Amino acid sequence: MQDLITKLLSELGEDPSREGLLDTPRRVEKSLRFLTGGYRADVDEVLNGALFTVDYSEMVIVKDIDFFSLCEHHLLPFFGKCHVAYIPRQQVIGLSKIPRLVDVFSRRLQIQERLTNQIAETIHEKIDPLGVAVVMEATHLCMAMRGVEKQNSFAVTSAMLGAFRNSSRTRMEFLELIKHRGRMPGSTPMMTEPEDLF
Ligand code: ZN
Repeated sequence: MQDLITKLLSELGEDPSREGLLDTPRRVEKSLRFLTGGYRADVDEVLNGALFTVDYSEMVIVKDIDFFSLCEHHLLPFFGKCHVAYIPRQQVIGLSKIPRLVDVFSRRLQIQERLTNQIAETIHEKIDPLGVAVVMEATHLCMAMRGVEKQNSFAVTSAMLGAFRNSSRTRMEFLELIKHRGRMPGSTPMMTEPEDLF
């Protein structure tokens, strides 16, 4: 990969042998390997030992999870907040594992819609809950930095399964609980309130 980065620097019109760039190929490889570490992560290993059988059937919510991903079209970052909720049938996931799960799928080349679905479907698959909801709000640097469609550089996506899809009351309860949150600094205002998405 380092040879490719050296080539890329030349193609950009740079001199890869100048002092400031000498170590860049090594740093870029290290950074890219980390940012795409999700390909090498095993979901079962991440969740290992953290699935519990409980007598609890109220909504579980983990909100404002920071995530960072790379858009597969431009290899530029998109990042923001992820909110996850589910209603257990018999099993729950250790709360600290939810952000880890978000990382597993964020650290890949993604589009926001697929990322949102993968998180929801994985929770659905692993603990068969009565319902799962995932909402992601993100700023896309490929839009913001290139100056195109600036006002659309902020996007909200959602995946609703089971009770969250079938019951508008359950869905509204979740959306109400994640609504009162701070805006991310530097982000453009939301174009769509989550309520408008359904
Ligand atoms: Zn992009």
